[in-house]
Amino acid sequence: MAQGIPHNVMMNTTLIRDLADVAKDAALLKGVLMRIQETPNSSELVTYAPFTLFPTPVSKGAFLQALAVQTHYNTLVDKISQDPDFLHKALTSTITVDDFTARLFGIYQQVLKDGGFQPIALGLNRSDYMLDQGEDGSPCLKQIEINTFAASFGGLSSRMPDVHRQILKVAGLHEESQRILDNNPAVGLARAIAKAWELYGSEKAVIMFLVEDSQRNIFDQRCIENELWTRNIPTIRKQFDDIHKTGCLDQDKRLFVDGQEVAVVYFRNGYMPQNYVSEQAWDARLMMERSLAVKCPDIRTHLAGTKKVQQILAKPGVLEKFFPDQPQVVEQIRATFAGLYSLDMGPEGDKTVEMALAAPDRFVLKPQREGGAILPRSESYLGNNIYGSEICQVLEGVMESKERMAYILMDKIHPVPLQNYLLRRDTPLKISNCLSELGVFGAYVRTSVEDVLSPFSPPEDLLVRKSLIQWHSDDCRPRKGKDMVMNECVGHLLRTKSSEHADGGVAAGVAVLDNPLLV
Ligand code: ADP
Ligand code: MG
Ligand code: MG
Repeated sequence: MAQGIPHNVMMNTTLIRDLADVAKDAALLKGVLMRIQETPNSSELVTYAPFTLFPTPVSKGAFLQALAVQTHYNTLVDKISQDPDFLHKALTSTITVDDFTARLFGIYQQVLKDGGFQPIALGLNRSDYMLDQGEDGSPCLKQIEINTFAASFGGLSSRMPDVHRQILKVAGLHEESQRILDNNPAVGLARAIAKAWELYGSEKAVIMFLVEDSQRNIFDQRCIENELWTRNIPTIRKQFDDIHKTGCLDQDKRLFVDGQEVAVVYFRNGYMPQNYVSEQAWDARLMMERSLAVKCPDIRTHLAGTKKVQQILAKPGVLEKFFPDQPQVVEQIRATFAGLYSLDMGPEGDKTVEMALAAPDRFVLKPQREGGAILPRSESYLGNNIYGSEICQVLEGVMESKERMAYILMDKIHPVPLQNYLLRRDTPLKISNCLSELGVFGAYVRTSVEDVLSPFSPPEDLLVRKSLIQWHSDDCRPRKGKDMVMNECVGHLLRTKSSEHADGGVAAGVAVLDNPLLV
C-alpha cells in the first residue's frame, strides 16, 4: 500500500535543514507568497506563505468522497439562498441576540422589500472537513463548516503542488513526488467569475474585488485576478470606503464605482464585524446588495453559510425538503455531517447545555463568526471557537438567558495527529504533531434568465434589462438544476496546524498550506 513520508527522512536533521532551504526558495519561485506583517500594503518586502515541509497523507477514499459531494453542496447552498421562509425560520433566534447576523439579515430584508434580487447568482464556496477516527480506526470525513463568503487560498493552493513535488524529489522520494495531485482552484474560480461577468453582459463593466484595508494575502487574490486578465476581463480592487465615497446606482440600479460600471462584486472582505468600521461601510454594503451587479456572494448566500444554518441542516428531515426526490444526494451530504446541536431556548437547547456541561471535551462551542483560522494572523490568535473547560465557563454565564442562542454546539472531530515541519518566517525549524483540514472548492453560476445569454450579441442595454427580472414571492421556491449554468468542484486545499495545545482546551495555532498525499 502507498505510504506517507518515511521515518528515516523525517528524522534526518541535516537533510531536513537542506530541504527547508530548498522548500522556501521553491515557494518563492512558484509564487506561494505573502506580504510581511510589518508592511501589509506594500509588495516591496514579501515572504513565503507559511507551509508544511512535507505533504500530508490523506485517505484516498475520504478525499474522493469530499470531491464527489461538492456539487451537491453547491446546489444546497443555492437552494437555501432562494428560500426566504427557511432563512427566516433558521435565523430568527440567532438575530435576536447576535447583532452582526441581525445587521446582515436587515440588509437581506431590505433587498426583499425592494422587490428584486439580481437573478444571476455566483457562488464560490469552500467546504472544510477533518477526518475523524471511525470506531474501527478508519478515517471518516466530517464537515467542519462551509464558507460561502471570501473562501481564501484558492490562489496560493494552486501553486503548492510543484513546491512539494520538488521537495520530495530532492529528498529522493520520486514515487511520492508523482503522487502529488494537480490542483488549480484559481482557474475554476476565475472561470465562474468570468461566466457571471459574461451573463451580466456589458463588455466595459469590471469585476470589483472588495478587499480589506490590510492586504497581506494579496497574492492569493492576484492569482484569480490574473486569470481574469488573461481572459481580457478587467478587474479592480476597492475598499468599503471607496464605495462609500465614489459609488452610486443609476436609475436601472447599475453599480458605478469611481465612474466604472461594476458587473461583479467579489467580496474578500465583510465577513467580520470588525470589517465594518463605520456606518458608511454598512451603507456601502447595502448599496452593493441593492445593485444590479452580481454579488459573490449575495446577502442571502452569505446568510446560507452561517453556522446556525449548518446546525439546522443537520436536523432530521431538513435536507429532504431541499432534495425531495433525491434520497441518494441527501445521504451523500448527511454522511459528512458531524453532530450539531441547537442552543435555542426550550427543552432541546436545555438538553444541549446539559450535554455540553457534562462532557465539554467532546464538543466545540461556536458563535456566528468567521475567519477564525485565517493564515496571516499572529500565531497566538485563538479564533472564535470555544473548547474544553472554557465551554463550561461561557455556558454557565449564558445558559439561563437568550444570549446562549448566539452559539451552536458541535461534536469535536479528532483527526489522527501526524508529524511534520511547519515552515514559517522567523520561526525555528522543529518537528510538530499536526492536524490537517481538507477544503474543497465549489463554483457555480445560476441564472433565472430564460435563455442563457451569449456575451455581447444583442445590444448591451437589452441584456442588462433582461437580467433585471423582478423577484416575486411566489417565484422564490428552490429552483431545479436546469438554472445552473455552471456547477463544479474546482479544486482543494489542505491546511495543517500544530496540535500541541489542542488537548489543553486551547485552540491550536493557525494552519499553514499543505498538499494531500493520497494513501
Ligand atoms: P471559521 O469560520 O472561523 O473558520 P471554523 O468552524 O472553521 O470557523 O472553526 C475554526 C477552526 O476550529 C477550524 O479550522 C478547526 O481547526 C477548528 N474546529 C472547528 N470545528 C471543529 C470541530 N468540530 N472539531 C475540531 N476542530 C474544529
Ligand atoms: Mg468559516
Ligand atoms: Mg473555517
